[in-house]
Amino acid sequence: MSKKVLVSGGAGYIGSHVTVELMAAGYEVVVADNLSNCDLTCFEGVKKITGRDDIPFYQIDCCDYVSVDKVFTEHKIDAVIHFAAFKAVGESVSEPIKYYSNNLVSFLNILEAAKNHGGCNVLFSSSATVYGEAKDLPVTEQTPRMPAMSPYGNTKTMCEDILRDVVYATSTQDAVIKGIALRYFNPIGAHPSALIGELPRGVPNNLVPYITQTAIGKRECLSIFGNDYPTEDGTCLRDFIDVTDLAKAHVAAVARMFEGRMKKGYEIFNVGTGRPVSVYELVTKFEQVSGVKLDYKFVARREGDVMALWADPTFANRELGWKAERTIEETLASAWAWEKHLAE
Ligand code: UDP
Repeated sequence: MSKKVLVSGGAGYIGSHVTVELMAAGYEVVVADNLSNCDLTCFEGVKKITGRDDIPFYQIDCCDYVSVDKVFTEHKIDAVIHFAAFKAVGESVSEPIKYYSNNLVSFLNILEAAKNHGGCNVLFSSSATVYGEAKDLPVTEQTPRMPAMSPYGNTKTMCEDILRDVVYATSTQDAVIKGIALRYFNPIGAHPSALIGELPRGVPNNLVPYITQTAIGKRECLSIFGNDYPTEDGTCLRDFIDVTDLAKAHVAAVARMFEGRMKKGYEIFNVGTGRPVSVYELVTKFEQVSGVKLDYKFVARREGDVMALWADPTFANRELGWKAERTIEETLASAWAWEKHLAE
């Protein structure tokens, strides 16, 4: 019998790519999503890519314990990958209660259900935002976390700690929970089929959807936030990772859990490429790849942005046997193909 993985937030951007890669690796997947920040476009895309019409889908809010418990009652869940969370940094600053209550309660409910159903493996989608403005770059998993710049960032730090504490407590109990936190850098791009990708609601906050929407004519002009940083071209440096590469890191992490290869009950991995790319460089590469001349202007820095952040992925490369493979050009081409697919 193949192992069963519950993907909470599985209809969203990263969750849908992870579902595809889990199924390609032979796992059974159960998807739970309240569709608060997406519609069924990506889930339909997942069905097309995998050729599977029978993926169990629960339209539930993980903040409702009874609904989460029902999923665990109806399926023997071997691992949970938890994505179900709000992710707009700016909104989290103006709506902290909404962010803390949603992001913390949904994760606590997942952990409680996992515990009440005999324990399982839990993979938490964390973020490189926990490193803040790091002094030494690239960052390793040992780089100290810094106070978060937003309630969103705080929820990532808090959920990491909750998972660590639950793993510790359950290690001597009947229902054991093992945990992995994956710290994502900047996921971009779309599936090579162009059937799933990022679908921001309203005006995009993130760089690549803003670029592709400008290129297709949905937005007038891209604002590049700051060209006076002490970097080579004055713009910020980030570690942009292809979403399919990122999804494969989840499969590698889940396999490590199932195969008993974890060295500790709770582990953390940086999921990045190790390659810093500037915002301006990314814009230029996009123009080359798409053949579209982008309208952009340099504007003031965006509050809360760190100047530079990129990963040292050595630990993940070695321990997970995983490495980001796609070039930035391939990834940008996939993002552009997805935007054009949406316009069809
Ligand atoms: N950025 C930009 N214009 C935009 C969106 C983002 O110049 O419309 C810059 C932003 O200032 C940052 C980088 O692109 O330096 C990546 O931002 P994003 O919001 O995609 O991810 P973050 O690194 O903030 O998680």
